[in-house]
Amino acid sequence: MAKRDYYEILGVAKNATADELKKSYHKLALKYHPDRNPGDKEAEAKFKEAAEAYGVLSDDEKRRQYDQFGHSGPGGFPGGAGFNNVEDIFSAFSDIFGGSVFGDFFGGGRRGGGRGGRRGASLRCGISLDFAEVVEATEKTISLRRNESCDACSGSGAQKGSSPRTCPSCNGAGVVMTSAGFFSMRSTCGRCGGRGEVITDPCPKCGGSGRVAREREITIKIPAGIEDGMTLRVGGEGEAGESGAPAGDLLCEITVRPHPLFKRAGADVYLEMPIGFAQAALGATIEVPTLRGRAELKIPRGTQSGQVLRMRNEGFPRLDGPGRGDQLVEIRIDVPTKLTKDQERLLREFAETDEQNISPERRSFLDKVKKFLSK
Ligand SMILES: [Zn+2]
Ligand SMILES: [Zn+2]
Repeated sequence: MAKRDYYEILGVAKNATADELKKSYHKLALKYHPDRNPGDKEAEAKFKEAAEAYGVLSDDEKRRQYDQFGHSGPGGFPGGAGFNNVEDIFSAFSDIFGGSVFGDFFGGGRRGGGRGGRRGASLRCGISLDFAEVVEATEKTISLRRNESCDACSGSGAQKGSSPRTCPSCNGAGVVMTSAGFFSMRSTCGRCGGRGEVITDPCPKCGGSGRVAREREITIKIPAGIEDGMTLRVGGEGEAGESGAPAGDLLCEITVRPHPLFKRAGADVYLEMPIGFAQAALGATIEVPTLRGRAELKIPRGTQSGQVLRMRNEGFPRLDGPGRGDQLVEIRIDVPTKLTKDQERLLREFAETDEQNISPERRSFLDKVKKFLSK
């Protein structure tokens, strides 16, 4: 099925500001929110579609790529395509869904997991990688401090032997109804914070919160081909949830250090390669550096400066499918600055015969120069 244009989905102009995008997405997300449209598959699809569009357009780098390449952009917008379930959307845009509008309106329903307590917050970390390190899948270990479920009370917050009591304010519902004029509003219970239970004998180890801070070392699997600026989501490695609710995620922001020789464009890698003037004219087989070492490259006879030669499958693994990108080698022709007597004599001889073998490109350029000077 053809994908709809992201700007069209959000109903905004191509030059929409970040604020306009956010507003428009907020409106759509409210309209198609799963809590408002239970069991409505079409609304759920619209909700996901809007999240994908917003995921791409709210990220400057992804938006720039989308503007340039459309849906077939390099990298294939892994951030956008990843929303297979609604939970991902809530945690990806927690700045929007965590806001008071959604929180109050939906009673923290989906995000908070209802009576079970709130889902743990996401944690962020940064991982820095070498340019060539991401050619293969790799692992990195990071240390972080996070709240984990208290083992003394199994995360309940109540002292061993006691148990939490049903909240007297909301009778365990976690929400209270208040009426304002014609409207009846549902809001989170202030006394129990939506949990539906209150703790009378708090656990001494965690003070009743059900969570304790711990230092942890976490090993993160990094998929081959990951790009600078991407965020890797590690499910369940964030803060512990309240009263046994699921933990949040760990979001790792990836930095890939630049390389002195190579540049990257999606799965392709780009290299500028200087060669001699005679090698370009006569053709040659040269050795060039690649991500995995070195390889031979055939320079065809008559190669021009600036010409790009393609070495198949010498790039990065593709994130959006099987196979690898290519290595693109841009040829730079080195003009010798120091010549021996013999070399100079040969070049002068060559230049005298050059008039007869002038290349078509050069002729048209010389014609242009002549035309310009004769004006
Ligand atoms: Zn405890
Ligand atoms: Zn309550």
